[in-house]
Amino acid sequence: MIEIVFATNNLNKLIEVQAQLPKAIKLVSLKDIGCKQDLPETQTTLIGNAIQKADYIKSKYNLDCFADDTGLEVKVLNGAPGVHSARYAGPEKTAENNIRKLIDALEHQDNRKAQFRTVIALHYKGELLTFEGICKGELTRLVSGSGGFGYDAIFKPDNQQKTFAELSLEEKNKISHRGIAVAKLIKFFNEKFEIN
Ligand code: IMP
Repeated sequence: MIEIVFATNNLNKLIEVQAQLPKAIKLVSLKDIGCKQDLPETQTTLIGNAIQKADYIKSKYNLDCFADDTGLEVKVLNGAPGVHSARYAGPEKTAENNIRKLIDALEHQDNRKAQFRTVIALHYKGELLTFEGICKGELTRLVSGSGGFGYDAIFKPDNQQKTFAELSLEEKNKISHRGIAVAKLIKFFNEKFEIN
């Protein structure tokens, strides 16, 4: 059994990732290790923030861990909000406000192409590795669905008729940015330890 800390305060991410992992990998939450602080994420790239969060837990608790950082990259906004996705709407950065600001920004745009990109940084037995996952799709004009979190209710992945918020957790994990990055993480553990 591999036990590894997932350095996130986002319960939705924790649930998504735990659902995807084989039984042989058990996630330890920040709550489990008594970490109550917000994790630092002051870098200008997704990879920089993912490493910064993982480094923080590794150096403070000396525990193997991984962290993810995710951005929504919109084509006609030249990749924005990207690394700033969490704070897109400014101080009132609720998911609802972020979505509203994005719908408004794209009001007159026919090109709705966007992608989610996740970078996972993993500290494991002295190694630091990163894994990336990308999910391409388009942004809807209206909010649909009540599942998921963040921008899920306005993101329709390519080859799907539904938004992420209308898909089940399992369906989202199969095709999502984070699901793809986590699959690479599982492959790493699998090759190293022949788990499953
Ligand atoms: P972070 O990785 O927690 O910094 O997330 C950046 C922003 O993207 C936050 O507003 C999240 O709510 C949003 N976000 C992260 N992952 C997802 C996802 O899988 N679906 C929709 N929004 C997401």
